[in-house]
Amino acid sequence: MDVTHILDGLNDAQRDAVTAPSGSMLVLAGAGSGKTRVLTHRIAWQIQTQNMSPYSVLAVTFTNKAAAEMRSRIERLLAMPVRGMWVGTFHGIAHRLLRTHFAEAGLPQNFQILDADDQLRLVKRVISSLDLDEKKWPARQAVWFINGQKDEGRRPQHIPDEEDLYVRTHVAIYEAYELALERGGMIDFAEMLLRSHELWREHPALLRHYQDRFHSLLVDEFQDTNTIQYAWVRQLAGDNNNLVVVGDDDQSIYGWRGARIENIQRFSTDFPESQTIRLEQNYRSTGSILKAANGVISQNAGRLGKELWTDAGDGEPIYDYAAFNEIDEARYVVSRVRDWVSQGNNHRECAVLYRSNAQSRVLEEAMLRAQMPYRIYGGQRFFERAEVRSAVAYMRLISHRDSDAAFERVVNTPSRGIGDRTVAQLRELAREENTSLWRAAEKMACNTGLPGRTRNAIARFIELINDMDTATMNAALPEMTEMVIERSGLIEYYERERGERGQARIENLRELISAADTFDPEDEVTFDATLPDEESPDTLLDEFLTHAALEAGDRQGDPNADCVQMMTLHSAKGLEFPLVFLTGLEEGLFPSMMSMEEPGRLEEERRLCYVGITRAMRQLYLTHAESRRINGQESYNRPSRFVQEIPQDLLTPVRLSRTAPAPISRPSRSASPIATHNESGFTLGQRVRHDKFGEGVVLNYEGQGSQARVQVNFNDSGSKWLMLSYAKLDVV
Ligand code: ATP
Ligand code: MG
Repeated sequence: MDVTHILDGLNDAQRDAVTAPSGSMLVLAGAGSGKTRVLTHRIAWQIQTQNMSPYSVLAVTFTNKAAAEMRSRIERLLAMPVRGMWVGTFHGIAHRLLRTHFAEAGLPQNFQILDADDQLRLVKRVISSLDLDEKKWPARQAVWFINGQKDEGRRPQHIPDEEDLYVRTHVAIYEAYELALERGGMIDFAEMLLRSHELWREHPALLRHYQDRFHSLLVDEFQDTNTIQYAWVRQLAGDNNNLVVVGDDDQSIYGWRGARIENIQRFSTDFPESQTIRLEQNYRSTGSILKAANGVISQNAGRLGKELWTDAGDGEPIYDYAAFNEIDEARYVVSRVRDWVSQGNNHRECAVLYRSNAQSRVLEEAMLRAQMPYRIYGGQRFFERAEVRSAVAYMRLISHRDSDAAFERVVNTPSRGIGDRTVAQLRELAREENTSLWRAAEKMACNTGLPGRTRNAIARFIELINDMDTATMNAALPEMTEMVIERSGLIEYYERERGERGQARIENLRELISAADTFDPEDEVTFDATLPDEESPDTLLDEFLTHAALEAGDRQGDPNADCVQMMTLHSAKGLEFPLVFLTGLEEGLFPSMMSMEEPGRLEEERRLCYVGITRAMRQLYLTHAESRRINGQESYNRPSRFVQEIPQDLLTPVRLSRTAPAPISRPSRSASPIATHNESGFTLGQRVRHDKFGEGVVLNYEGQGSQARVQVNFNDSGSKWLMLSYAKLDVV
């Protein structure tokens, strides 16, 4: 059999990893050294030469995008579709297991997935039902505690009973929350892994079935597994000695969410039979980019230590742009992308990366203004938007009346006279009767002891849902979606919300119809759902609702269209782009304020920076702004320490005057050309003194004559705009 195409394009170490006989293996290697390539080629190799069935392969990675990519690469290598292979995310695979074995897992057949927002609201309710003061016991903290415990594999009874009031109270919340979940037939994200782990633990025959089935287990991005994920994989591997993991300790960026970098460090101890393979050649980036990345990451202590080299030349220099403010930064990015495209390249080859989602808006505005196509990955994702969530909640309630989360979300959206007090009564009744809110509402609608208005309002809501159910009984998914959106009153409701916001919400609702129209479960589930022994009980609607909760997918525009790719650094893991912008490289933003106080977290930020730099193949731009308005606040920060950690000879600083001749001012103010001198008589960057505010630096000016104003960043009182005709400023 000709397998040269599987082995061609692999170096010796990669080839050893791909063709190693069945056995456990750790591939430990730096960014861009071909780890993911090794995984896909190994799967193809095993199927082609070891007579392994695709049915016996389970490959796990962290995002659906990566899973889909992996599957398509394997299919390309084998030149045929691979049915029956399980390639997915930890959550996706655990979810599939629970759907298939719901009874053994102690779940109702139609259990619902609670997303982050639903979870927070449920925890809030639990806190108030325990008569705890939410100010003292914030729901977010409780959610954090609960998810953290689940990620460590602990139920409330496994948490040592401590004197500590913090722990005790949170354990009580955790317990009450679990009861609420059970009553509503719901599970949250962290529960999926924990529950499937318990499922296997308590049903050894079932575990054996899967152990016998999967002859090859592979995990990508292993450095970001948490305790329960690793325990789950080990459980499945059992004594079969068939687990291959690939990872890079320098790219562990989810410690804040429970990832255990130790997993990669202890793999060889846990699997003493395993061999370790190191890959050292980087095929992705130019020499300069790689040196910059190495310079940054070498500042971290306690690394497993890997050498990474490339035989590509140094390539283009790395540009370091000191922007005036965030708007200037965005313009710079747009102008560079435009240059790139004018040289015959594509938009989709450019990635704009940022530390926090809030940074995207200004960048988006600049792109919109320049009519530059872009696409955002992650962030305020389509299915997370309030209006979309409401529409989906109606659909969920129609198919599962007992979904309390859905009930809560829509019972008074749009408002129909069922106020907080009534809802509180409903909750109380549901708790007393140990039933769902829907059943409680049905009961309350018949309770003549209640004011007629309340009763009627509840009865009308019940009727509305029942009617929608009947009307959409035989409707196709997009028609059902449309009917729900119209009949629920959501469109009218958002029409009343004036301005663009309401309009955008209505557009999103319409977009949901298209999402339903183009929805194809085969695209979503990256492993084959139609195997005889795992017949899926789900209807298309269920699949769609699951998709909405699981994927919170991003459907802005056509994924294949030629768009600039925008995403947070976290979402960029594993991806690569010819041109990369690392934006917002400022102290306090990246590294983030919180991480600066803790050495461990600072190191994680540094790894995130390493991930960012190593996404770039040919060209890298770094940008930072002197002043930045973010989350409604203006701040002045020094360039990030990470910029200083890059060997300075690799950086080419870009001067403001050369690259930003365009007017710079906030959109709300009249634009004034930036020049080094103006009629105000002041120079940008000049130090001045004000009688009241003290010393500061001139940041900007605008207007003329009596309207002339300057913006000064005062050492003590921050930035202020001052009218020159009033304020007396002296040059220092
Ligand atoms: P990351 O750590 O970022 O996940 P990785 O180690 O998984 O990176 P890959 O994405 O597998 O790296 O590979 C990086 C790039 O190098 C890809 O474009 C891949 O096709 C290419 N590549 C890997 N190995 C080789 C090789 N032997 N010859 C040519 N190109 C290669
Ligand atoms: Mg990879």
